Amino acid sequence: MPELPEVEAVTVGLSKIISAGAKVTAIEVLSPKLRTLIPPKIKKDLIGQKLVSLRRRAKYILFEFTDYTLISHLGMTGSWRHFNSQDECRLHDHFSISFDNIKMIYNDPRRFGVIDYAKNDLLQKNKWLEHLGVEPLDKAFNSDYLIAKAKGKKTKIKSFIMDQRNVVGVGNIYASEALYLAQIKPKRMAGRVSAAEWELLAQAIKSTLNKSIASGGTTLKDYRQVSGEKGGFQSQLLIYGRVGEVCRRCAENKIKSSVRMAQIVGRSTYWCNHCQK
Ligand SMILES: [Zn+2]
Repeated sequence: MPELPEVEAVTVGLSKIISAGAKVTAIEVLSPKLRTLIPPKIKKDLIGQKLVSLRRRAKYILFEFTDYTLISHLGMTGSWRHFNSQDECRLHDHFSISFDNIKMIYNDPRRFGVIDYAKNDLLQKNKWLEHLGVEPLDKAFNSDYLIAKAKGKKTKIKSFIMDQRNVVGVGNIYASEALYLAQIKPKRMAGRVSAAEWELLAQAIKSTLNKSIASGGTTLKDYRQVSGEKGGFQSQLLIYGRVGEVCRRCAENKIKSSVRMAQIVGRSTYWCNHCQK
């Protein structure tokens, strides 16, 4: 399922094709059934709008136009691709948006994605965006913030960093990776993590996400960049998916310890019992 780095890579991919100032010339709703129905008025309201910017907020891609913002969430299997005149439509194409001779298509086999829009002055109150917490790559996401948020919390630290009200876009893969880097066990209580450990974790989350963005994201199964290519970060995962393998950090220190796996709130979680405390 696409997480923050994958959504960032798709946003960057889209902005390489569609420039600011481009005008919406056509919209087609090919199959409106996604997580919620694509609003029927989208065509009437967005045609003629000029693109101001393309940006990511949490796991949403925001196409900011003059008066409205198109909101796209990739769900589990959503993808955007550039449609050339010689291409054919594909099964599970749901939506297209054209800017003169540039046509972008949204495809989503499992239909957990979202295509919605809002008036710009009401964007912050949109139901998908209004409860989102701080961005992990912002300066405001730091140990002081985390210490204050986690005070007295009896949640496991992995669940805490995956809670969108605390910080957005740290999904299952990156939570395991960052906790491994910061040497914190995923089952630790969030309220019992020290200030120094929060600092390490904040830095680990930022560096893991940034490395993945630089590689175009992680493809375990379906995720594709706008170019159609897979992401490249799956080959750099340190702990995720490595149950039973030797822990690389322990091996470097000539210690034998193998990677463990358990479910935390229904999500596969990987850690090393020896070097994560
Ligand atoms: Zn280890």
